[in-house]
Amino acid sequence: MKKKFLTSAMAIAMISAAALAPATLFARSAYDQQFADYPVYSGDDLELSVNETGTHFRLWSPKAQQVVVQIYDNGKGGIPIENIKMDFHPDNGTWTASSPEKLYGKFYTFKVLYDGKWLDETPGVWAKAVGVNGKRAAIIDFAKTDPEGWSADKGPEVKNFSDVIVYEMHHRDFSQHPSSGIANKGKFLALTEPFTTSPEGLATGIDHLKELGVTHVHILPSYDYNSVDETNPQLNQYNWGYDPQNYNAPEGSYSTNANNPATRVNEMKQMVKALHDAGIGVIMDVVYNHTAENDGSNFELTAPGYYHRHWDDGRYSDASGCGNETASDLPQMRDYIINSVKYWADEYHIDGFRFDLMAIHDIETMNEVAAELKKINPSIFVYGEGWTAGDSPLPVDQRALKENVSKMTDIAVFSDDIRDAIKGHYTNAADRGFATGKPGVEETVKIGIVAATDHPQVDYKKGANSKFPYAKSPEMIVNYISCHDDMCLTDKLRKSMPEESDSIRQAAAKLAQTIIFTSQGTPFMFAGEEIFRDKKGVHNSYQSPDSINAIDWSLKAKNHDLFEYYQGLIALRKAHPAFRMTNAKDIAKNLVFDKIDSKKNPNLISYSLKNHANGDAWKEIKVVFNGADKAQDVTIPKGNWKIVAIDGKISPDADLGATLGGKTTIAPYSALILAQE
Ligand code: CA
Repeated sequence: MKKKFLTSAMAIAMISAAALAPATLFARSAYDQQFADYPVYSGDDLELSVNETGTHFRLWSPKAQQVVVQIYDNGKGGIPIENIKMDFHPDNGTWTASSPEKLYGKFYTFKVLYDGKWLDETPGVWAKAVGVNGKRAAIIDFAKTDPEGWSADKGPEVKNFSDVIVYEMHHRDFSQHPSSGIANKGKFLALTEPFTTSPEGLATGIDHLKELGVTHVHILPSYDYNSVDETNPQLNQYNWGYDPQNYNAPEGSYSTNANNPATRVNEMKQMVKALHDAGIGVIMDVVYNHTAENDGSNFELTAPGYYHRHWDDGRYSDASGCGNETASDLPQMRDYIINSVKYWADEYHIDGFRFDLMAIHDIETMNEVAAELKKINPSIFVYGEGWTAGDSPLPVDQRALKENVSKMTDIAVFSDDIRDAIKGHYTNAADRGFATGKPGVEETVKIGIVAATDHPQVDYKKGANSKFPYAKSPEMIVNYISCHDDMCLTDKLRKSMPEESDSIRQAAAKLAQTIIFTSQGTPFMFAGEEIFRDKKGVHNSYQSPDSINAIDWSLKAKNHDLFEYYQGLIALRKAHPAFRMTNAKDIAKNLVFDKIDSKKNPNLISYSLKNHANGDAWKEIKVVFNGADKAQDVTIPKGNWKIVAIDGKISPDADLGATLGGKTTIAPYSALILAQE
């Protein structure tokens, strides 16, 4: 396809170069065809290796005219103590140099002569340890960075991805507020501190996570990013971190000493270990789709042009909305992404990866990512945003889009269907959803309930965001009401229900999360919503100060009823596999919607999970949602029902009373859950 861009000589070269992706290379812009004949190097010794024979450097830069590696005593300042000219290997496009010494404690950069010009120094693209602000790579002994007991460290075993319960958090949000009682505020180590409490004496930090019952934390970008000045921690700068600089080293501002390259490595490992010891997995947010800088990125300073995509006229294409996008469909970049996540899984025992703007990557890359990670640890969970933030030269049918998720294996996508249908549109603050009284979105909520799988009672033509059952399996769907992006749930409820009180809004919050946590697929929640945290109405708080982003833990005492509801919801889901079915057939068979005329009874959904679904101890579970601002009646079949949830209360042990069925009234903005043994 589209071979017209290629000369025959290029096509021949590509047979070896593009063994990983023979088809995709042909589909890109005319400008990018110049990279098609670049040789590929996939050895694991890229850029730096230290062994008994010394310190060895190998930079991939096929079109460089000369490369020098510069050795420094420090991570910042001073002149090189040595400049070593590197030798070219045209067969694989790499440049090598060696020193007979083990250069532990030293730093290095590469300088590339390209097109007659010396480019700026770069730590390369494979720096696994870096000096302050990530400008120089560091040579450290990784064996010495392991915390005690690291070799036996292991994350939780995951049998099915629908068993995972994700808690999305930012290091600073979680621990920075004075009310956290945590010593290492805003640091990796915050998550290693037991017995921390709020001023009211309630658990914060890792103890709070244990109390809540989530299975995994998803940490916002924790690789080395660009925007926070690590030399000036006293500035208390805040950033989400979606501005990648060094993909394979931890962020320095989350360590207690960004000047010592080993500290951030060791402290991130301590964090992982503490969470693992608490039975909690660690998912990393990864942003391979773009770089913080264009020409100044480490990709451009090592192999200009190659790692980013371009339009026909040579301009950077910008599917990320951040100025550029990377080229996962080129074999060296594909290798890079795969080897990078493998590295985090191996070295840091990471249990999952959330791909930012995953649809900028091609399907083939994502499938290889998941397959390679599975070989390391079958419990690793991979999911991502199945969309882009702008157009891309990558053809739509090759993008890892939500709509293409069934072409992928062991990869899940976020359901914007259920998100927008429950709470209202994400860009229109005043817009309401099913859980806040907006009629007409019942069918889209149902799409979410069945995890976008094919179901005889769901009419996809009526879906607001999706028009066909795009998921082959519920394990391909992550359900959520909110995340770091856009308004948090509290702010959204305050903006869309301005005339209501917070207690009514909390009723709606409970209903909204009950829909998420009882739906098929994997539930995902944003940190602090269990205590009704807000962001003072700021929707894009990526660089807002702590006063906007830090979670005030005093809210836990104030909104303890809400916290207990979340606890109950999580405990219910964990105890009952009916909510966690593993295939579409089971859902179609066991999940049965009750007939409700949404013209007569808008904002009312009722369904049953039947036949001891997925091995559940309960024979049948009846789930009813009333998102209207008034009470509504449903008819429950006659029988001995135990009450699991009613009027804003929930009990996983179903001890809220009993009913024999018949006509039953459901309070406004609430869920009713009944069980039959
Ligand atoms: Ca940084």
